[in-house]
Amino acid sequence: MLTVTLLGTGGTQPLPERALAALAVSVGGGTVLLDCGEGTQTALRRWGVSAYRLHTVLLTHYHGDHILGLPGLLQTLSSLGRTAPLTVVGPAGLEAVAAPMAALAGPLPFAVHWRQAGQEPFAAGPLTVTPFPLEHRVPCCGYALTLPRAGRFDPGRARAAGIPVALWSRLQAGQTVEGFTPGQVLGPPRRGLKVVYATDTRPCPAVTEAAREADLLCMDATYADDADLDKAKLYGHATCRETGALAAEAGVRRLWLTHYSAAVTDLAPGLAAAQRAYPDAVAGTDGMRLELDFDKES
Ligand SMILES: [Zn+2]
Ligand SMILES: [Zn+2]
Repeated sequence: MLTVTLLGTGGTQPLPERALAALAVSVGGGTVLLDCGEGTQTALRRWGVSAYRLHTVLLTHYHGDHILGLPGLLQTLSSLGRTAPLTVVGPAGLEAVAAPMAALAGPLPFAVHWRQAGQEPFAAGPLTVTPFPLEHRVPCCGYALTLPRAGRFDPGRARAAGIPVALWSRLQAGQTVEGFTPGQVLGPPRRGLKVVYATDTRPCPAVTEAAREADLLCMDATYADDADLDKAKLYGHATCRETGALAAEAGVRRLWLTHYSAAVTDLAPGLAAAQRAYPDAVAGTDGMRLELDFDKES
């Protein structure tokens, strides 16, 4: 139903086996890319995510490790013959970044819609994207991606309303058809799916709120050890222990640690620190993939 692919787990600089920050969320034949560090298009290819199907790029902030892959990606999309527009969203300061990016990419056969993120949710394909502020050294935003789920279809109500069976599936999909509305045949909305991406950031209430009961939180875990807590505070990052604690407080269903400092060569100590607060924490690695489906109902 919804596929999440972790394309890169590195912060600051790429390593041979650790690409820079990027995450792909694919649903309904389209893909949203979150961050686009240097080499992201290599990672897309390596992990089998079609660049051609990208429709939206969500940038968290304008540090190089999150955006330097974008001009090259735009060029590749151009060489693939793309004509469909691409939307690129980012926090305050987007205009100043868009101009050099566009200049580096050169003339493109498709439109790029640069759009500054506010606090308002917006649609990206079937997903609803809600930006939220992160605490970093520069303007930075995280994103909650939700896939809504319509209420349960009630055939009894559809029959009683005299709705022809041929129209049922479209009403079920939330469309208004021939004067009939989904509200006539659907129960209240059910729990959908929520994926939350939060890097680079200190742990803060905005992340906790956005991540509440998320199916997946993918979050900054730059430092393995709390001995680096002062550095984390100085540079606007989190330690693995802090990220685990936030995930526990937010009641998320899954946690992936990401954006490791290049100094972190062994993920085990950081993972252990996160797991003391959130036992099911997972140390994100490049290429990690998760398929999410709506909850089964009894
Ligand atoms: Zn970073
Ligand atoms: Zn940063």
